[in-house]
Amino acid sequence: MLNKKLQAYKKKERIPKDTPAKYKNEFPFLKEVDSLALCNVQLQLEKAFKDHFRNRKQFKLPKFKKKRDKQSYTTNNVQNSIRVDFGKRLLYLPKLREGVKIELHRTFDGKIKSVNVSRTNDGKYYASILVETENPRNKVVEPKSKACGIDLGLEHFATVTNDFGSQKVEHPKYLRREEERLKKLQKSFSKKQKGSKNSEKARLRLARRHAYITNARNDFLHKLSKAIIDENQVVVVEDINVKGLLKTRLAKSIADSGWSKFLTYLKYKAEWYGRTLIQVDRFFPSSKLCHRCGHKNEDLALNDRTWCCPACGETHDRDVNASINLYFVGLGRPEVKPVERALVNDRSPHGLPKKPSRVEAGSSTTKD
Ligand SMILES: [Zn+2]
Repeated sequence: MLNKKLQAYKKKERIPKDTPAKYKNEFPFLKEVDSLALCNVQLQLEKAFKDHFRNRKQFKLPKFKKKRDKQSYTTNNVQNSIRVDFGKRLLYLPKLREGVKIELHRTFDGKIKSVNVSRTNDGKYYASILVETENPRNKVVEPKSKACGIDLGLEHFATVTNDFGSQKVEHPKYLRREEERLKKLQKSFSKKQKGSKNSEKARLRLARRHAYITNARNDFLHKLSKAIIDENQVVVVEDINVKGLLKTRLAKSIADSGWSKFLTYLKYKAEWYGRTLIQVDRFFPSSKLCHRCGHKNEDLALNDRTWCCPACGETHDRDVNASINLYFVGLGRPEVKPVERALVNDRSPHGLPKKPSRVEAGSSTTKD
């Protein structure tokens, strides 16, 4: 179908709309698979072309997939054709007589709408099940803190300030360790003769390691973003492009994908749980402003980790100061009622409790 469409496109002809059924005689294996799976592919393909004609810049023409890339299909539940036996840990899929043994991550109730079965390039299979339910699993909890400011960094993944104080969140240590391992596997793979058995083995080893790191990183980002969204009503982050930090050697591998994913997670979780996420514009000098007196330190260099405010004499940890400024932006939001704001501000001159309750030893913040 893709080939036909692409050829018509090249010849500037009308893009044909055909159905998978047409191909069943020529390719008998299509009769073996579930027709809804084929139908979904057709719909996706049509959508891809529609998107492309709507916005050619954003949506490129669909391409043929490589055999080694992630593969997947989606099928819909019709008259209980998709079922899960939680006790026996079996997933029943259309066209398969027996259930497939699965590793269950959670149980659910509600009506199964569809399932997406995928195989990643490290050879593992996943099934993601879409369920319609009256009792969504994710319950909204009352936020304990009015606002929260997050400064993303390199030395630490993030510095977070909220009503309870400031906290530095470390990069997960295993990620650094894995970097080295990945380099070795990459080297071993590139040394092998292309297409050989050993090369395929090395490719799998590398793909598995990549998958492990991606999973571990996502786990970390999900847990952190969930905790932040649970705890705070208004969450303020800076525009990460401001920093120009990605030029640094360390940054590339550890931080770059992490930050943008983290923001994506914060965004949709904020929406789910009724929180406000604010991304301050790139001209807001979160690092250069003294959070105590408001003086703007134009001389602050990128590698100044601490600085002393020339106006009021306060010594600042660069990241903590930035996160406090972002926190203040959050406090100023209409979601935080003026009365609540006053209560928070009463606790100390800077809106922070005297002893930050969650600061790690050795990375203390305010001098009060
Ligand atoms: Zn100052």
